[in-house]
Amino acid sequence: MSAPQKPLTVRFAPSPTGTLHLGNARTALFNYLLARGNDGQLILRIEDTDKVRSTKESETSILEDLRWLGIAWDFGPDKGGPTPPYRQSEADAYYGQLFERLRLEGKVYPCFCTPADLEAERERQKLAGGAIGYNGKCRQLESDIAAGRVHSGEKHVWRLKFPADRSEIGFNDAVRGQVIFPLANLGGDMVIFRGDGSPIFHFAVVADDIRMGISMVLRGEDHLANTPKQLMLYEALGATPPVFGHMAMILGPDKTKLSKRHGGVSVEYYRQRGILPEALFNYLSLLGWSPGDDTEFMLPAEIVRRFSIDRLVKSAAVFDEKKLLWLNGMHLRVLAPDDFVARASSWLEVFAPDTIASVGRELCAQILPIYREAIESFAALPAELLPFGAVALADPAELKSVLSFPSFVVALNWIEAHLAELPAAGAVRDEWLTMGETAVQAESGAKGKQLFQPFRVLISGRTSGRALPDVLRYMPKRLIEARIAELRKAISV
Ligand code: GLU
Repeated sequence: MSAPQKPLTVRFAPSPTGTLHLGNARTALFNYLLARGNDGQLILRIEDTDKVRSTKESETSILEDLRWLGIAWDFGPDKGGPTPPYRQSEADAYYGQLFERLRLEGKVYPCFCTPADLEAERERQKLAGGAIGYNGKCRQLESDIAAGRVHSGEKHVWRLKFPADRSEIGFNDAVRGQVIFPLANLGGDMVIFRGDGSPIFHFAVVADDIRMGISMVLRGEDHLANTPKQLMLYEALGATPPVFGHMAMILGPDKTKLSKRHGGVSVEYYRQRGILPEALFNYLSLLGWSPGDDTEFMLPAEIVRRFSIDRLVKSAAVFDEKKLLWLNGMHLRVLAPDDFVARASSWLEVFAPDTIASVGRELCAQILPIYREAIESFAALPAELLPFGAVALADPAELKSVLSFPSFVVALNWIEAHLAELPAAGAVRDEWLTMGETAVQAESGAKGKQLFQPFRVLISGRTSGRALPDVLRYMPKRLIEARIAELRKAISV
């Protein structure tokens, strides 16, 4: 495994063509960890050369998701830095200069083959059963003839001359070890520049990695096949390539590459689902890295401290949503109670404003602490808090058996008769509940479930939830009153 060079400069280079998905978030995270653990620098570079698919909204949302996740970069389009620009769409002049150098050195040639020519050649190669790729037709053109055709405006692209005397290209991958590609598999002299003066993806990536002094490129395995092509460009440009590392893909439960087919795969989705950023940070860090023992729960600071490139895992990681939720639960439990309330409230404000509106901001803040130990994510809160803001009786099917207990009507009568005595709120209500349960037990002989469930249904409208005294402490009296009226109707029909 090759050690990264120091000082370490790494980059995260998203294409702004959608939201930040988990695979890219992991790439960003690992580069962040590399930079932090090696006194290095993380550059954020926006790869927006695809003018049709790139959008400003996507760029904004990617930056926002990264910030939310706790990934900070040193230089980027929003911050500037020593090697601007940090958006590829703004670097055309630089690409043009670099390309011009290759052109003057005779390392590229214009290619006039049409898509139909190329397609026909591919068909012929398929039939012949040999390597598929550009056959070098335009490489044979006399240079002054080719220049004349370019000059006259004939449509063309620019191809890089692959060395004729090489049969393979290899490199030492920081994750996978030695990797070797036969040159014949690269598809022939590759297109690096368009006739209109714009760069092809690989050219822009390599040009920027050189310009920004990137010393290590850690990215997903889906880029592995790009690396030999990019190495050919480094060679042509006479630049030292960075250390490359390719992480195995994140797989879905069916062991195929994680994608939209598997449901929620974006950072935004998990943010909406009420996952804490530090829990997602923690979970993503374990997808392709191991701290070296069986520790799973870690706060970001511990991960930053323990992260090391030589414990990157070669095998693919399987995304397990249940484990993410479990870890999230652990992160919720270690929050200071006030912090839990503040963060749960902010989540509700954004993703469940109706809950805040119906329960009320102040009451929400009072109730929330009883859920810190009980939920796996904030997404459970709207349903849990519902009965504190509305009558919201559970489905008749859920209530049916409790409503049929002989003790139910006894409990209903007791609550109705004693509701006026229920204290305004708080722990003093516990006594009222004990009194009620004792009275109903004496009158009906019910105990256990037969005794407690009627009280739970009458007070909260549900058959399950947090400990009933906790729920009762915060339940608005008017809702209990409305609920018992509804339930009386329900049992009298
Ligand atoms: N822009 C590329 C992507 O979003 C990444 C390129 C690279 O890491 O070299 O997949």
